[in-house]
This record gives sequence, structure tokens and C-alpha cells, in this order.
Amino acid sequence: MGFKTDAIHAGQEPDPTTGAVTIPIYQTSTYVQEGIGKHKGFEYARTQNPTRMALERNMAVLERAVAGYAFASGMAATTSITHLLLKQGDHAICGENVYGGTFRLFDKIVKHYGVEFTYVNTSNLSDVERAVRPNTRMVFIETPTNPLMAIADIQAISDIAHRGKCRVVVDNTFMSPYFQRPLELGADIVVHSTTKYLNGHSDSVGGVVVLKHKEDAERLQFIQNAAGAILSPFDSWLVLRGIKTLPVRMEAHNANGMAIAKYLAGRKEVQKIYYPGLPNHPGHDLAKKQMTGFGGMISFDLGSREHAGKFLETVKLCSLGESLGGVETLISHPATMTHASVPAEERARMGITDGLVRISVGIEDVEDLIADLDRAFGK
Ligand SMILES: *Cc1c(COP(=O)(O)O)cnc(C)c1O
Repeated sequence: MGFKTDAIHAGQEPDPTTGAVTIPIYQTSTYVQEGIGKHKGFEYARTQNPTRMALERNMAVLERAVAGYAFASGMAATTSITHLLLKQGDHAICGENVYGGTFRLFDKIVKHYGVEFTYVNTSNLSDVERAVRPNTRMVFIETPTNPLMAIADIQAISDIAHRGKCRVVVDNTFMSPYFQRPLELGADIVVHSTTKYLNGHSDSVGGVVVLKHKEDAERLQFIQNAAGAILSPFDSWLVLRGIKTLPVRMEAHNANGMAIAKYLAGRKEVQKIYYPGLPNHPGHDLAKKQMTGFGGMISFDLGSREHAGKFLETVKLCSLGESLGGVETLISHPATMTHASVPAEERARMGITDGLVRISVGIEDVEDLIADLDRAFGK
């Protein structure tokens, strides 16, 4: 089936008892059993829940995976991946520009279990190649990166990693499977914060992992149950509902994103703009090759903290806030918000300046968004 059909139907049969067209929220902790060892495949709701399992099947189909597992947050999902792939004495490679919470998890928690991490610029293949060791078991990448929208070559990195016994994990939160399917490009595991585009309405926190290999999937299912960071039935239902409109929303984010990127590129106040859809973006050709759209995330540099501060205080329709991927436009200041935990000199080296502003373009009328930005530039 086509992606739009799968987004609406995959993993979701009409309810067998009532015919309900929408999968119910199975708000139960346990299931009655007929006799010893006689049950309908459902024993306890941490282990099996029909609403959560519908979301997991749906995501596996959309990402072309063998299975998917839903977690209480994107970070819970990534934590479970570290349980799957890493043990004491192992080495892992991670993009230097990944989501701040991912870096915090690896650097402040997983490292203390005796796992060594090397952080590299994953847009530079020779840097990735040079970082590989005999005991490297995971390469974790985000593409496009946050907030500078650098593109990493998923196929080439997978080829490098697969020379050894190493899995490639891609955080696909920014693109969603509608615009990018890393497993088809050679990656082994995909993780999402469903909080962002998949749910899409800024009203739920969750995460999902989908996997290419059956043995990884079986082990992750064991970890999901054993460690227990499952997504609730209600949140699973919200994400399923969000995914039904993922294709139309992503098209709208992409169209508005392109229009606003072009608008920003024409403003003299903007010193630098980061959007993979613009031909002068260094990753533009690669983006065109491995993505089918450029999405709605844009960063731009206003030159100083003072300029950024004034701008962010003046916009009205674009709400100042962390997070992204919702129908409403959100605007943020990476240096003091999402990337505040990164040391200042490290931020400067990567290009996350005090004048940098990040915008998650929503699906409002683009004329209204541009009028709001225009007003802010006017001040
Ligand atoms: C938000 C986000 C996460 C973390 O997800 P939570 O649902 O907030 O735990 C991970 N990766 C990226 C790219 C994100 O934007």
C-alpha cells in the first residue's frame, strides 16, 4: 500500500467486538485468564496493550521495519537502545550535534557504565571512519542535525559501520518516515520522539524504536518489558491519531518551511540561514538524494544575542518555546534553551551562536507567519 494508506490503516483492524473504526483506548492493567496458561495473548499491560501494539505495528510498516516498540518518551526510547547495543567495555560513536538530551544521556549516565563515546561531525565521513574501533558497537546519528541542519550520509555511514560488528541508529524525529526512511538507506535502527511530528499536535510526550533485524527486535521487546518505560494507552492512541494526518501535515510544513526560508534568505538582518532546502546549504544535494522533502525546521543567525532577544520578544503568532513539530509555529533560542547545557566554547565552535534563532514552522497561513516575522524585523 501507499504511505498515506498505511498511515491511516496499517496495524489497525476494526475492533473485533464492536466494529469500532478507531482502535479503542484499552485502559486496563490486566486481562482475565480462562485457566492456567489459557489466555488471549494478553497477560499484563506493561507487556501487552492492544492500543500500544497498534501504534507499534503502524510505525513498523511506515519505517519498513520488522517491528516497533513504543516508549514513554523519546529519551526512554534511546535509553532502551543503549540497553540493547552497549555493555561495559564497548565504544560508541555519536554525532557531535545531536539533541541535547541524547548527549546528556550518553555523557552523564551511559558513560558511567563503562562505555566510551566519541563525538564526531557525522557530515564528514572520514571523521566517522577514523573514530571506528574494533569494539565500536553503535553509531548514533541525527540528520538533519539540531539546530544547524547538517546532513549526514546514512548509506555511507552504514557501509563504514557494517565493516565491523556495529549497528547504525538514526534519530529520524526531524524528518518522520514520510520524508526519510533510514532503514531503506542501510541503517539498522530508527528512533523517534513521537512528541514532535508523529503526534504533531503538541499534546503528548512519547518515543518509538523500529528495527531492521529480528534478533534486535526480540531483545528490545524483552528490554521494553523488563525495564518498563512503556507508552500509555492514551498517548498511544493520540500518536496513532496524529499519524493519520502525518503526510498532509508534512507537506504543509515543507511548503511553509520553504516559503519562510526564502523570505529569511532575502532579509538583510539575517547573517546566515540553515535550511537544507536552499541550494546553497552545504548538504543540499545529499538531502535531495536521501530525503523526499526538507521539512519545517529552519535556523538563522541575527548576529547577536541582543538582536535575537528583541526579535523573539516581538514575534506574536510564532510562540517562544522549546519543542518542535507541532501544527503551531514555535520559535526558540538554542544557546539559552535547547543547547544551554553545551559549554559556551563548544557551542561557538559548532556555530550555535548567541544570535542563532530556530523556528519550527507550523501549518498556519504562511502570509500570517511572514507578517509576524516582518513586524519583528521592523523593530
Ligand atoms: C525532542 C527530541 C528528542 C527527545 O524526545 P522526548 O520525547 O522529549 O524525550 C530526541 N531527539 C530529537 C531530535 C528531539 O527533537
